[in-house]
Amino acid sequence: MLNGKCPKCENVVQQGRMEHMNISDGTMSLKAFSAACPHCNTILGVVLDPRPPEAMLEKIMKALRIR
Ligand SMILES: [Zn+2]
Repeated sequence: MLNGKCPKCENVVQQGRMEHMNISDGTMSLKAFSAACPHCNTILGVVLDPRPPEAMLEKIMKALRIR
């Protein structure tokens, strides 16, 4: 996954610490994961959660039940 050195503490990061986070611009919010350095907690990168949000899932489930 992540390979290389942390830009802050310069430790080799073989496995980033995954954390959930929300990204928001004030009106809409997206779920995402951040990868943090396990040594100093510096965030190395952010990826969007590829799963649909729960509200969306609910709509999909309802639609499936109707059909
Ligand atoms: Zn670090």
